[in-house]
Amino acid sequence: MMNITVIGTGYVGLVSGVCFSEIGNNVRCVDKIASKIETLQNGGIPIYEPGLQEMMMKNVEAGRLTFTTDLSGPVSESDLVIIAVGTPPLPSGEADLQYIEAAAREIALSMKGYTVVAVKSTVPVGTNERVNSIIASLTDQPFDTASIPEFLREGSAVKDAFNPDRLVLGVQTQQAADLLLELHRPLTENLVVTDIRSAEMIKYASNAFLATKISFINEIANICDKVGADVDEVAKGMGMDRRIGPSFLNAGIGYGGSCFPKDTHALIQIAGNVEYDFKLLKSVVEVNQAQRWGIVDKLLEALGTLQGKKIAVWGLAFKPDTDDIREAPSLEIVPKLVEFGAKPQVFDPVAAENFRREYDHESITFAESALEAARGCDAVCLLTEWGEFVNIDLKEVEAVMNQAVLVDGRNVYSAQRVKETGFDYHSMGRPALL
Ligand code: NAD
Repeated sequence: MMNITVIGTGYVGLVSGVCFSEIGNNVRCVDKIASKIETLQNGGIPIYEPGLQEMMMKNVEAGRLTFTTDLSGPVSESDLVIIAVGTPPLPSGEADLQYIEAAAREIALSMKGYTVVAVKSTVPVGTNERVNSIIASLTDQPFDTASIPEFLREGSAVKDAFNPDRLVLGVQTQQAADLLLELHRPLTENLVVTDIRSAEMIKYASNAFLATKISFINEIANICDKVGADVDEVAKGMGMDRRIGPSFLNAGIGYGGSCFPKDTHALIQIAGNVEYDFKLLKSVVEVNQAQRWGIVDKLLEALGTLQGKKIAVWGLAFKPDTDDIREAPSLEIVPKLVEFGAKPQVFDPVAAENFRREYDHESITFAESALEAARGCDAVCLLTEWGEFVNIDLKEVEAVMNQAVLVDGRNVYSAQRVKETGFDYHSMGRPALL
């Protein structure tokens, strides 16, 4: 059993805190935002993440998990302090490290006895050294820094925490390695113990590679559209090759979220700082941006004009099973529809309020269900593959629409399902489907 303090109770910090308490550790979660801590202390949860609240309550009741805004007490008693604060992008694309640096200063002032300070946030190569020097300048207590990048996926974060493909531990001393190995061994045997700079790079390289896979298949889809091939068949055939693998080969409107866009930009910048022009990754980002407009082009193609047209938008979150709308395609596509004179009727099972805080317009109606969003519309466009859109009765949807046009930005419907309806159906890279 270890005493652990986690700084930052966002998607990463909260999931880590809950997960480490679940395997028997004594965890204190700290956040600067008092309202978040109050919600957590009252048994509520500030984010939507399947299974998290139940596991959190179980560990709170067992006395292994507490929440506070004051890090001094918890840090002074901890063997391990995990920094899981945000690293949002600066206008230049570089990661903003002000929260990391502030956390390092606060930790330094409270540490007592040997402590490992591990950075879980995604940070550019060299940041741990910066954290190390900030702490060393403020305390004479013994400590080590370490890099333990996070690989969880929002929407399946709890599952991922207990079934990781691998965990990466970047360390500079055997003492820190031993402590982190002891903590992580119950979660997986696939532990990569490496130096700190390599650990920091593994995180960026992994996300950049996944983003590359997505942009690659999206470009293949665009070509399939023109040559009459079916990208799903192409992806299936490619994915059976073990050197390629089937994941991340779903064509669609591109990636979003709080990680891929930010981390690809940051890696381009990291390379630029050492005068390396990362041409491949720059193209990945460019392709992803263009892909978002593909869905607007398909609507224009189907309807001729968007002026005055009612368009149902299914899904606002950047992916299913999350309320996170950071860098979601919806945040660019819905304003573009408005710009073209359309009247979007939008619906998302959990992310509508988060979306409304970022963008609202008098032309937009926030609907209460997928069917209500489609009522009276000239087209439906699906942006997020939530289960309830995938499993919806398309005939029922068609019956409430003014014009049966369906633009499927995630290729979720099979030819057979669409053929049973009268929909004029458009998807991404599957012209041969119908
Ligand atoms: P988030 O913005 O949801 O949460 C960060 C939290 O840290 C906020 O609640 C903020 O109030 C708190 N905070 C900031 N400074 C603080 C301080 N000094 N003391 C206490 N609390 C402080 O961020 P997130 O999505 O959890 O991401 C955190 C990091 O993990 C980022 O670097 C991100 O790139 C990385 N990451 C995120 C994911 C993901 O899916 N969200 C996955 C892997 C890695």
